[in-house]
Amino acid sequence: MKIKEIYETMEYGPAPENADVAIDFLESHNRKFKLFINGKWIAPSTGEYFESINPSTKEKLANISEANEADVNKAVAAAGKALPEWIKIGAHQRARYLYALARQIQKHSRLFAVLESLDNGKPIRETRDIDIPIVVRHFYHHAGWAQLRDTELKDYKELGVIGQIIPWNFPLMMLSWKIAPAIAMGNTIVLKPAEATSLTALLFAEICQQIGLPNGVVNIITGHGKTGADIVNHKDVNKIAFTGSTEVGKIIRRATAGTGKKLSLELGGKSPFIVFEDADLDSVVEGIVDAIWFNQGQVCCAGSRLLVQESIADKLYKKIRARMGTLRIGNALDKSIDIGAIVDNGQLKVIEEMVQLGVDEGSTLWQSSSTCPKDGYFYPPSLFTDVSPSATIAQEEIFGPVLVAMSFRTHNEAVKLANNTRYGLACSIWTENINLALDIAPQIKAGVAWINCTNVFDAAAGFGGYRESGFGREGGKEGLMEYLKPRIDDNFSDQPLAISTNNSDSSVSQSNPSLGIDRTTKMYIGGKQARPDGGYSTVINSAKGEYIGEVSKGNRKDIRNAVEAAHSNGKWSNMTGHARAQVLYYMAENLMIRREEFASRIVQMTNQTSADALQEVDMSIERIYTYAALADKYDGHVHHTIHRNVTLAMPETLGVMGIMCPDEFPLLGFISTVIPAITMGNNVIVIPSEKLPFSATDFYQILETSDVPAGTVNIVTGRKDELAQVLAMHDDVDAIWYFGNIEGCKEMEFLSADNMKRTWVNYGKYRNWLDKEQGEGKVFLKHASQIKNIWIPYGA
Ligand code: NDP
Repeated sequence: MKIKEIYETMEYGPAPENADVAIDFLESHNRKFKLFINGKWIAPSTGEYFESINPSTKEKLANISEANEADVNKAVAAAGKALPEWIKIGAHQRARYLYALARQIQKHSRLFAVLESLDNGKPIRETRDIDIPIVVRHFYHHAGWAQLRDTELKDYKELGVIGQIIPWNFPLMMLSWKIAPAIAMGNTIVLKPAEATSLTALLFAEICQQIGLPNGVVNIITGHGKTGADIVNHKDVNKIAFTGSTEVGKIIRRATAGTGKKLSLELGGKSPFIVFEDADLDSVVEGIVDAIWFNQGQVCCAGSRLLVQESIADKLYKKIRARMGTLRIGNALDKSIDIGAIVDNGQLKVIEEMVQLGVDEGSTLWQSSSTCPKDGYFYPPSLFTDVSPSATIAQEEIFGPVLVAMSFRTHNEAVKLANNTRYGLACSIWTENINLALDIAPQIKAGVAWINCTNVFDAAAGFGGYRESGFGREGGKEGLMEYLKPRIDDNFSDQPLAISTNNSDSSVSQSNPSLGIDRTTKMYIGGKQARPDGGYSTVINSAKGEYIGEVSKGNRKDIRNAVEAAHSNGKWSNMTGHARAQVLYYMAENLMIRREEFASRIVQMTNQTSADALQEVDMSIERIYTYAALADKYDGHVHHTIHRNVTLAMPETLGVMGIMCPDEFPLLGFISTVIPAITMGNNVIVIPSEKLPFSATDFYQILETSDVPAGTVNIVTGRKDELAQVLAMHDDVDAIWYFGNIEGCKEMEFLSADNMKRTWVNYGKYRNWLDKEQGEGKVFLKHASQIKNIWIPYGA
């Protein structure tokens, strides 16, 4: 376009960014990139390379190495070798390296931005002004955490060698979210970028060399999904951090089941963008541009489901269509475009097919008339209206510039529609009424809530999801926890604590009539004692082999009833921490009154000394006190994010939890697991110790007399592993805690993959439940809750 024409039409002319420096970088490697292992460039064992394409033009940019298992072995070995020295140099030296990385990336920020736009197709405005500044911020922020590790996090230690697998939508940003916290906490890493977008990770490898990062601390391996799987399956990798599709996330969850590898998964989403009738509609329209047309909609937390109050729906759709008409599509390096290229032909086809499906299923499609360049992979901004909540395009991630709109009438309907998804990554809430926004935000099952804003990120705030959007957080103090483990974990034993038995001890009566020796105990479901569906019971013998009594043998229908009862109890989770504390104190008081009776029961089952049994009861009472004390003190943070925001990091209940109690310590094992879970507002289905169930079944009476709402604690007795399987496979159970043998742990993690339940298992290691450091504390509350970050912008 000529300058004269531009003056006449007042249209934008092309404003291409110069790519010379990025091309020079490619040429410096002869456009053929090796693997970065142990601080050196090494040719792949396969001798094979694949092409990296510029999606704006379909031109080849470079050849990238295809790493195989042998290369992964080399990289993991290098990371393992580098680990002791990286730990030894200490927090301050690590902080200096992270600081140097931040400075060096900042110095080359334009090169990174141009290279990212060339490789991924995202507009240079976004890489220059959003992606790379966030990358730099992550390294600076985590340089600070590296410095503070030994003081602020002294009860935790590094995990070791970390495997990290990242997607193509934010290549360098995802790299920084993974590498910065991992190395700041003293770990070493092997990272695989996505096959479509490896170049900025390889440039980052050069930055590591430039700042003199010790060899082997960061290793970059390129390749396809198989290379990722080799990292996942490597026995010397202690943790996997993955961002990508839910489908691959599930594969990884199953592959790592029972191995003890720590796992964080940041997966897909179908995030609601909720607009109430009092919202500022012009701001909403700009918000929608950021929500679904930023990065061509290839964003895991994209506000891809527009939920709009019916009274303003038509007005808003009209404004959106008008704005869509002004969006300019073009080469990613053009500074005057809004929408760049789709990452590759495969993703373009996925978008085209999903849109066709939307049309076939009867929704109304509107696409802007903006012309898409013919020489690359482009797709126009699209809006679907008349969409049914069950339509495929309303349920499945499209991962493209396609907005799907639905309307609602009442606030409750908005919440129901928002939560009508298997995902739970983010939500965006638009209203001028802050009371309404703060009422809605906690009700949406999502890890992030943006109020009157969207797609804002910062290193100081955690990001991550619920349900099939995965688990774990990146950013904020909560993100650091993904790369640490409590030091106390090293003290767990391979064997349960031995108990001392004393056959002649009679200081606590074993024939206390209130123990109901000849009684078959029922189960406890929805606040009532319930007979088992199957009508069977199981004989329980004492440690001496003598008959004590029988317990109901629960089956899958009993579990189903218990899950239903847990879900129908909204009361407990809505109570304040103070109110829950009062119930817990009451529970402890009632247990105190029946101290001797509970001790007798323990003696009867275990044949241990009465002094030890009394100690177990006393410790149980004390433990309930601890959690009652913490109930209104385990709170969140207000994060210092760089934007003009108050960012509230609030611990939220997980929902319905399945708890398989330890087999040892019949009362204390039950108390130590159930009480922290309910302290955080969860409703639980508990499977007590299979061999020693009576302390749990006796506890019904304590629950009944302590004002615990019906459905908060449901107890199903029977075969632990059979019942555990049913819980792990149940789609309405949100989390599983399993204390038992290693096979059971593996099974729990494997079966939980279907709906991406959170799991906490003991990998066959045993805590000493009598020890306060091992048996109680905030780590239990952490596993019983998840952090939601609520962003509230301010400024007039
Ligand atoms: P994937 O989940 O397949 O890829 C993410 C990363 O995992 C890539 O590095 C990939 O390697 C690697 N990978 C693939 N298979 C395995 C495996 N079995 N074990 C270990 N690593 C593996 O996402 P896609 O790139 O294929 O995109 C597919 C869909 O996923 C998109 O349409 C979108 O819906 C969603 N997605 C979600 C993202 C998010 O941020 N939540 C990001 C990207 C995609 P490679 O790419 O080299 O094969």
